[in-house]
Amino acid sequence: MLMRVPPATVRTQVSVPLRLSDGYVTEARVFSFDGLVDGREHLTFGLGDLASPGPLDGDCRRIPLVRPHSECLTGDVFGSQRCDCGPQLREAVERIAGSGGFLLYLRQEGRGIGLYAKLEAYALQDMGLDTYEANLALGHREDERSYVAAAQMLHALGVSRVALLSNNPDKARQLRRCGVRVAARVATGVHLSAANGRYLAAKARRGAHTIDVELSAG
Ligand SMILES: [Zn+2]
Repeated sequence: MLMRVPPATVRTQVSVPLRLSDGYVTEARVFSFDGLVDGREHLTFGLGDLASPGPLDGDCRRIPLVRPHSECLTGDVFGSQRCDCGPQLREAVERIAGSGGFLLYLRQEGRGIGLYAKLEAYALQDMGLDTYEANLALGHREDERSYVAAAQMLHALGVSRVALLSNNPDKARQLRRCGVRVAARVATGVHLSAANGRYLAAKARRGAHTIDVELSAG
């Protein structure tokens, strides 16, 4: 069933040259928005041929590659190896820049429970709980992320069809419910490290993610 999604509008768009920590360089067109449902400062990064300024005519004829990426301060910025967010983000930027599309940077840290609660969940994981059990033990749902604001940003940019760069079926399901056509799902790579094996295995087992990882890992 389709959900009624309130309209959002582009507030600002500005070019930002990017240089990632490993030296990878590209250009982004960064969009901010008015009217996002949760009032958070989500961003969209236009990459590749969608990085250059120009009118958005609401008719994106080629289907853009789109990744909704949920903020992970520890992984994205500091390279935490407790999760795979940093390498996922790095991979997404390059792949989207290569084919043209949008990275939706969603300010919903720790599956939506917030940064401090995420650290508390880590502490519980060190006592043997997996990432989902830890969220439940803290009184949260397994995954509190919403992709309504992601759909609002896509609608505001005139994007109605996407090739979704994600292993997470919930992202596709939620976006479809918000009126975004997911024309294709493109899998991301597996970024296994010594410290995130258990996390990835839990994601594959509990979140029904399409991850080819040995469940005995870690
Ligand atoms: Zn992370």
